Amino acid sequence: MTTDLTTALRPGLSGLTPDELSTWVAEQGEPSFRARQIADAVWKAGGATDAATIRTLPAPLRDALERDFRIDTVAETELVLADGGLTEKALHRLDDGTLIESVLMHYPARGVSRERHTLCISSQAGCAVGCPFCATGELGFGRDLEVAEIMDQVRHAARRLAADEKRLTNIVFMGMGEPLLNLDRVLAAVEALNDPRRFGLGARHITVSTSGVVPGIRRLTALGPQFTLAVSLHAARDALRDVLVPLNRRWPVAEVVGAAREHAVATGRRISYEYTMIGGVNDTDLDAQALADLLRGDHAHVNLIPMNPVAHTPWQASPMPVIETFAGTLREAGISTTIRRNRGQEVGAACGQLAAERAGEPPAPAVARRRERLEMASAAALRGERSEDPVPSGVGE
Ligand code: SAH
Ligand code: SF4
Repeated sequence: MTTDLTTALRPGLSGLTPDELSTWVAEQGEPSFRARQIADAVWKAGGATDAATIRTLPAPLRDALERDFRIDTVAETELVLADGGLTEKALHRLDDGTLIESVLMHYPARGVSRERHTLCISSQAGCAVGCPFCATGELGFGRDLEVAEIMDQVRHAARRLAADEKRLTNIVFMGMGEPLLNLDRVLAAVEALNDPRRFGLGARHITVSTSGVVPGIRRLTALGPQFTLAVSLHAARDALRDVLVPLNRRWPVAEVVGAAREHAVATGRRISYEYTMIGGVNDTDLDAQALADLLRGDHAHVNLIPMNPVAHTPWQASPMPVIETFAGTLREAGISTTIRRNRGQEVGAACGQLAAERAGEPPAPAVARRRERLEMASAAALRGERSEDPVPSGVGE
């Protein structure tokens, strides 16, 4: 049975593998077809939140389910709409009070492309990596999510969509947390998403985004299926990436891109590089050229994302003409590049912002010190100086 290390509560039902569920059913002295019925109740149209509603099961089995499992690990959800309803931001409260976020984005059909419903999910509460432009990074590390807590964000969105007879078409691990630092559980969740007996979404429609945990990328590659890998690059030069993605001091750019290349070769899937455009920091001609040199000839795609304004940084998004020039340099080098418009800015859709607001405002002197430190660090990085700061705590192999 899946042990629940994080919360010492009953395990979440949606975190069970089919084998674990069958074993439990047998332990209850029930015939094996009951496992299929329970799985249907968990997964069809986002599934049940309460065993009492699973009418296909006899009452004693429903009671046993409630006794042994949490049917839904999300205790409460607050929805905030943006973009005229095209973006639905969900702030979920888990059983121990932890707050996490997921974002559902609706993309209407356009030309030949069909309508899409993409869900962005969290893998951890907070994050230990501490990228300074990211609201989750500023929160620091809370805890890893269990498999069921990851899956129940998906079930929540699937239920909302099912009410309109719609289904999720894409799932991206781009919410709170660094998925590859909660690797075992994220891999188990990815398997559950892909498994036709459970959520049943094609591997190609599942994207795992990482800030560059090289051993994690290698394990994902070894898994085999054609999941999409997104790598958050944000800088092609080590001195600057050390500041923007502190994990770079453990696994520098060349190693990260090397591991991503191996993933592309092994799976035949194009790597997606995320590059948040920060005005005057990582958007210079020198940076565009460095990125073009780094990725030239690769099976890769670059997404340029104007930085979502977050509190407590001295930075803001690059102006659109600068982003367009940057994109032009990459395209001239033959690198497929898109500029992504940020969704749901007015409700802070860069994940972690709603949770950060709830965490309360830090003292003003601490905010001022942070701004000053970031300004100095990015200025030094622009001069090409590498900092000697330690690797952030909580970042393991
Ligand atoms: N930890 C993983 C996945 C979650 S973050 C990772 O870093 O890849 C998902 C994406 O949002 C990352 O590319 C991240 O760099 C980006 N992001 C975070 N804060 C942002 C901001 N303020 N503006 C724009 N993009 C941001
Ligand atoms: Fe963590 Fe990703 Fe935010 Fe960096 S961008 S702090 S890795 S969630």
